[in-house]
Order: sequence, then structure tokens, then C-alpha cells
Amino acid sequence: MEPDTDFNDVLMTRARRIIPGGVNSPVRAFRAVGGTPRFVRRAQGAYFWDAGEQRYIDYVGSWGPMILGHGHPAVLQAVQRAAAEGFSFGAPTEREIELAEAIAALIPSIEMLRLVCSGTEAGMTAIRLARGVTGRAKIVKFEGCYHGHADALLVKAGSGLATFGHPTSAGVPPEVVQHTLVLEYNNLDQLEQAFAQHGAEIAGLIMEPIAGNMNFVRATLEFTRRCRELCTQHGALLIYDEVMTGCRVALGGAQSLYAKAIAGFAPDITVLGKVIGGGMPLAAFGGKRAIMEQLAPLGPVYQAGTLSGNPVATACGLATLREISQPGFFDALAAKTRRLIDGLCAAARAAGVPFSADCEGGMFGFFLLPDLPKNYGQVMQSDAARFNRLFHGLLERGIYIAPALYEAGFVSSAHSDADIDATIAAASEVFQALG
Ligand SMILES: *Cc1c(COP(=O)(O)O)cnc(C)c1O
Repeated sequence: MEPDTDFNDVLMTRARRIIPGGVNSPVRAFRAVGGTPRFVRRAQGAYFWDAGEQRYIDYVGSWGPMILGHGHPAVLQAVQRAAAEGFSFGAPTEREIELAEAIAALIPSIEMLRLVCSGTEAGMTAIRLARGVTGRAKIVKFEGCYHGHADALLVKAGSGLATFGHPTSAGVPPEVVQHTLVLEYNNLDQLEQAFAQHGAEIAGLIMEPIAGNMNFVRATLEFTRRCRELCTQHGALLIYDEVMTGCRVALGGAQSLYAKAIAGFAPDITVLGKVIGGGMPLAAFGGKRAIMEQLAPLGPVYQAGTLSGNPVATACGLATLREISQPGFFDALAAKTRRLIDGLCAAARAAGVPFSADCEGGMFGFFLLPDLPKNYGQVMQSDAARFNRLFHGLLERGIYIAPALYEAGFVSSAHSDADIDATIAAASEVFQALG
């Protein structure tokens, strides 16, 4: 393996001279796990090849978008055709309407939506919209949920229960996060207390309905129900950040799962990204008509974007949604993901390694912990050193999982049973060494 990784080392040395940390998004730098990032040369189906032509089975899939695997023929053709017709116009196109209609058809809580370029942008604007609509300032978020890198959301819990947070990044003045209340995920007492104390000032509550940025942590049904009830009761908007889970855990997102269990359940605003762009820079936010009509040019809440609704990105998103809407697509994807998770659990058990795992649709998470965690604090009790040995053990065997223990994993429709069995076999060897 050493001669292969040299090619990546050479690129990383060069990248570090011109790009801070050598990467354009921090987690790619492998800082958590050590070693050299793999520079991707090309990808096809469930695989990518690095700078040394080493092949990996890819369970990152661009952090979720590549639900059909890489280079799906129908998507590739749609992108090529669109590109031939023009890259960007800064004027409306029919394809934007088609994609907006397709998204609204999949997610009934979305009556109107706007297309943007990144999840960060969509989340940031959803917050502005909630504040604009309610005329209130305060936002509730949960520790371990990521909603992009807008200033007001780069915040961690202060000391004590239900306190306003502290910035997690330099360059964010405390005044900017003074209206952001950070609570523990799945903690009903803190939730009740926050609304009891601040209910009349809360513009919105933003959450990942299945948290995918602290590995994979479900919101309990009771917690989900109370988030909805308390928002309604206090006139705050419930914002579902489904950038990761939308069209990934189910065609209709995580909210479709909760809607089955809780009568009448729907968020007020939904934030989407990742899968809806199929790997192109595309995201969206949408919700009730009366809320969305508060956006410029109809209403007083400003939002804009030079590349919003980009014609190549919308073609990619539309073709992707068309494929994943085929009957049986999600059942087959969920079965593959389940096969992986069951296999990993059995392999860990056989090796005597404490292990827990969960999955929904094409998204999964696993922990070197005996029980599934319910919040960020519990996730972070994982043994980082052991995770790093697991990560590198898999990487050496041609299996690429996210290079940090607080990230979720993704299976695509291009992963074959043979790929999954090879992954389980590789993991089994690594578990034996860990055990
Ligand atoms: C990825 C992600 C974002 C940010 O999206 P970008 O396109 O990276 O800006 C926001 N929220 C969630 C839940 C995400 O997973």
C-alpha cells in the first residue's frame, strides 16, 4: 500500500502550500484520524480511485448526495445535455419549476420553495425567514446538530441548562450568537424549560430529525412530538434541517417517517441539500405558502443568489430524483444498508468488540460503544483511538468510511451485495485485531 499512498502525499504537500490545510472543507484533511487524505482521481458506481489508482468502496458518497453511486448513466446524460445548453443564465428556466414541483411532490409539507446553492445558505435563510415572519429573534438549536456554517449557528452550549451559547469559531462575536439557545438533543426537560422561559421570544427551532453530523442519532418520537407541540403552542416555527436526511432516509425525508407515527405531523420549514442536487451545488428551503411568500420579491425577507437554480445543477437534481422515485428503489437501498449494518454487528460481536449501529434508508451510523447514544455527549464518549485504528484498517483494505467518528455513512444503489460482503469481511479482520 505504501507506494500507492505516496501519490496522495505528493498532492497533499502541494495542496498545503496553496490551500489552508490542503483542503476546501476541514474534515477532508484527516486531522481526526491522522494520515494522508486520499485525492480522488475518478469515481464510478460504488468506487473511487485515488491518486495512486488504488480503488476504494465509497461509503461517504460526497457526504450523502451520491445516492445512485458515481456517474449514473441517466444523470450523467442529463448533466451533459444541460451543460451543452448553457452553464448559467441568471434568469429563470423551466427546469427550476420542474425541480421545485418534483421536490414539493415528494415532501407534502413544502407548498413553495426556493432553490439555492448550499445547505449553509438554505439553513441561514430559513432562520432569517423564521425571524422575519415571527418578528422574534431567538433560535433554538441542539448540540451536535450541524446546520451549515452561518455565524449564528456556530455555537455550543454554555454552562448550565438551557443557556445561550458560545461561538465555536473565531470570528463570530458573542453578540451574533446571543439569540441562539443550545439544548441537548432528546432532552425533554431542557426543551420544556427553554420554551417555558423564552417561548414568546423564540422565532424558530431548527433540528436534524435524524442527526447525521454526530454520527447517526435519532430523535425519539416523544421528543419529535414535543418539539412540534411546543413550537405550535408558542408561535415558533419548526425548521427541519433535512439537508442530509431528505430523500436519503426515505423518499419523503425523515419527516415522512414521523408523519406516519404522529397524526398531522409536519414541520413549518424544511431545509434540503445533498441528494436533491445529486452531487451538484444545489440546496433548497421551503414550507407553507404564507411563510414562503414573505421572501423577496413578494415580502420583506431578503434572499438572492447569482447561481441559484443553476441549469446544470437542476438537471442533475431532477435526473437523480427521477431515479430514486422508481418503485422499490428505497426498499432495495434500505435492504442493502441493513445487510451492511447486520454484518458489521455480527462481525464485531464475534470479535468481542463493543459495537452498536443503526440505519434508515440509505444512511447509517455505528459506534464503538455497547449502546446507541442519544445525544452529542454520549457520542463523544466513543474511544477516538480505537475508531482511528478501525478507520485505517478499513482504508488499507480499500474501504472508505468518513474520516471522523462523528460522521454518518451512506450506501448507494450502486453498492452490490458483493461490495457489502467484502466490506464486512474486511471489518471482521479489523475487529479481530481490535478485540
Ligand atoms: C451538509 C449539511 C449542511 C450544510 O450543507 P452545505 O451544502 O455543506 O453547506 C447543513 N445541514 C445538514 C444537516 C447537513 O448535513
